[in-house]
Amino acid sequence: MTSEQASHTVETPGLPELPEVRQHLVSPAEPVPARVVGSRICTAARKAAGFVRHVEIDVSGTPLEGAWRAGQSFGVVPPGTDENGRPHKLRLYSIASPTGGERADGKVLATTVKRTIEELPGDHRLILGLCSNYLCDLQEGDTVHLTGPAGKRFLLPTDPSAHDFVFIATGTGIAPFRGMLMDLAAAGYEGKATLIMGAPYRTDLLYDDELRTLDRDHAWFTYRTAISREITENQPRPMYVQDRLEADAETLRPMLASERTLVYICGIAGMEIGVFRTLWTLLPPELRTQYLRITEDVPPDPALWDRRMIPRQIKPTKRVFMEVY
Ligand SMILES: Cc1cc2nc3c(=O)[nH]c(=O)nc-3n(C[C@H](O)[C@H](O)[C@H](O)COP(=O)(O)OP(=O)(O)OC[C@H]3O[C@@H](n4cnc5c(N)ncnc54)[C@H](O)[C@@H]3O)c2cc1C
Repeated sequence: MTSEQASHTVETPGLPELPEVRQHLVSPAEPVPARVVGSRICTAARKAAGFVRHVEIDVSGTPLEGAWRAGQSFGVVPPGTDENGRPHKLRLYSIASPTGGERADGKVLATTVKRTIEELPGDHRLILGLCSNYLCDLQEGDTVHLTGPAGKRFLLPTDPSAHDFVFIATGTGIAPFRGMLMDLAAAGYEGKATLIMGAPYRTDLLYDDELRTLDRDHAWFTYRTAISREITENQPRPMYVQDRLEADAETLRPMLASERTLVYICGIAGMEIGVFRTLWTLLPPELRTQYLRITEDVPPDPALWDRRMIPRQIKPTKRVFMEVY
């Protein structure tokens, strides 16, 4: 076994300690009613390729009140039954709010919902995803049934000041990072955090104004974008998030080399392999194992890596946090 191919049981310096969180206070068998208190488009332009909404829900008086941390998810149970007469299954949505919620009182949580819209190959019927469209259609004052909270690993560490952060998001993967960044700002964080946000078009960037303001007002925060289907004035070629990682290597390499740094990845399933390839090539052998270990049968050339090799053969260390769906 080479030093690069050590098992993930090998100690990694800089391992974070995570807070204890509450989970499953409300079970899918008995979802609690909550009230929608806001819903707005959160793409950079009102007319964007994707339909994405920031939906705010008042959970006061339910076990969810004050019970979540940024990074966790909650369940939504759409009304009605499936073709077999069984209640619809719940869908999970990331909490986009900071730990205290949208109003710092633990009562209102928000999520970032993308309407699932698809044309079927073959008979070209239009499919509207059940729960995402239900959530996006809800009006202020409507009732929605929720479960949760869920998730105990995709969290900021107990002591964020001991770490720097590289957050990498595609699409609605921005949701947990919005909450985490708001938590960092509220805690007077003074380290370093970079967010790379990926979207197909500039108009599809989410919370773009908020993030630009955060970048302008806080020396610790850097907001970078990667637009994959068009060129922009700062981006002479289309870029995926891993291309942005590479293009910003001069500033990111020293950050990634530091034992303080944690890498968070959230968004479209499949994004993680591109990010892992770039992390591997960007860092010298003695530093890349802070984030990834590979088994002996994995090709040394990352271009030959396959997503199915994660996590058995390509093993992220505990300094990598990943939530893809
Ligand atoms: C931990 C986690 C966090 C998440 N966070 C978010 C988030 O913050 N924001 C977000 O938007 N999503 C999030 N998701 C995804 C979310 O849970 C849902 O999967 C998503 O909204 C789609 O659900 P839906 O009910 O709208 O689509 P569904 O109705 O479940 O449809 C999904 C797909 O199934 C297929 N399909 C459905 N009906 C048919 C049919 N009749 N014929 C053929 N094919 C069909 C289509 O391919 C369709 O696109 C998260 C998922 C996880 C696991």
